[in-house]
Amino acid sequence: MSGGAPHQRDRQAQLSAAIAESWSRQVSWLQSLVRFKSLPGEESACQSWLAEEFGRRGWQVDRYTLAEQPTAHLRGHADCRLTDPAKAVQVVATLAPAGSSQGGRSLILQGHVDVVPTGPADMWSHPPFAADIVDEWIYGRGAQDMKMGICAVVFALDALARAGLKPQAPIHVQTVTEEESSGRGALSALARGYRADACLIPEPTGNMITRAHTGAVWFSLRVKGHPVHVQDAQAGTSAILSAFGLIQALQQLTARLNEDAKTDALFGGVVDPIKFNAGVIRGGDWASSTPSWCELACRLGVLPGKPIATAKAEILSAVTDASKSDVFLVRHPPEVVWDGFQAEGSVLKPSETEAVLGRAHRAVFGTAMRERLSTAVDDTRFYNHYDDIPGLCYGPAGENLHSFDERASLKSLRETTLVLALFVAEWCGVE
Ligand code: ZN
Repeated sequence: MSGGAPHQRDRQAQLSAAIAESWSRQVSWLQSLVRFKSLPGEESACQSWLAEEFGRRGWQVDRYTLAEQPTAHLRGHADCRLTDPAKAVQVVATLAPAGSSQGGRSLILQGHVDVVPTGPADMWSHPPFAADIVDEWIYGRGAQDMKMGICAVVFALDALARAGLKPQAPIHVQTVTEEESSGRGALSALARGYRADACLIPEPTGNMITRAHTGAVWFSLRVKGHPVHVQDAQAGTSAILSAFGLIQALQQLTARLNEDAKTDALFGGVVDPIKFNAGVIRGGDWASSTPSWCELACRLGVLPGKPIATAKAEILSAVTDASKSDVFLVRHPPEVVWDGFQAEGSVLKPSETEAVLGRAHRAVFGTAMRERLSTAVDDTRFYNHYDDIPGLCYGPAGENLHSFDERASLKSLRETTLVLALFVAEWCGVE
């Protein structure tokens, strides 16, 4: 707790009490949310539950699928074969402003419900969808990234309601999918017409504001080989070994990009900000046949300011050059398929919205809000980059996102809930 005018301190005490009062309910609500196995393409049960929760609060709910709300005509769109648009359910809940007042500033509060695969469950010390709680931590895939952020949003708004503070401008609470693969969920809400004076996405930033994030390009490499019985291995080729050569070429490209990044105005101080990952590999059919096919799913980072077309050209040229020294690929070049993220990097311009959030942060933590540079994409890019809506990425703290034993800090959840309640109160205005 720190300074502020007396009425602000009163408001903070009031909101803090409201959050304390429903704290055990808030924790079990987060457990319920984490227990949904909302893996890519399997979010609809989770979204239905959220739609019901929002409806019970008197919020007006719009539930639709990506099939019903195409985005291909918009900047920033990327196709994604991983999921079926007809099953990709999005939810936008709108809180109508108090009375007829027009004085407030509207707000989008957005989170994603899609979570990444768990990997071998036996490597977790708590089952990935059990939502076990140990020592102020809640364990589970998606607990940190980013169901705790969604939980903070919902209970911040509940705290305002319980304290009798009614926001003076519309608030859209958006729970989207495909944040982890393409961003189509966030883009679909914009396509559907949802706009506001600002947007906040409480990804788990450890209570820091995200000043900029790198972009990302997803691509698959379809590599072929000449199959022979392994007794004549020298007469054939191996698609798996050819793919291995391509991975090494892409690692070399990444090293060159990171060398160039040393002079970048924002990311120059970050060690190796361009991250490359070959995340999926499939190939071959038989242990005694040299593999005739191999498919890789890859991801490469992109500095803010670099057009996606340039990034794609660099990838293509690295793959083409590497293929020239491969006896089979030189005649049968690998196919490069762009699928999933084609996301430019994004930079957050300082704004009044950020100043308001900074004040809310300081009121709770007693210190200035620090900033971070992220080497991973988040959905704020659509707002910052394409729609001129300030898109702030700021949220609670957790550990091990995308890893084993992902966990969310309940202490941070509570603090962040209060920050968000104070932020909404000042940004939107309250009656
Ligand atoms: Zn996330």
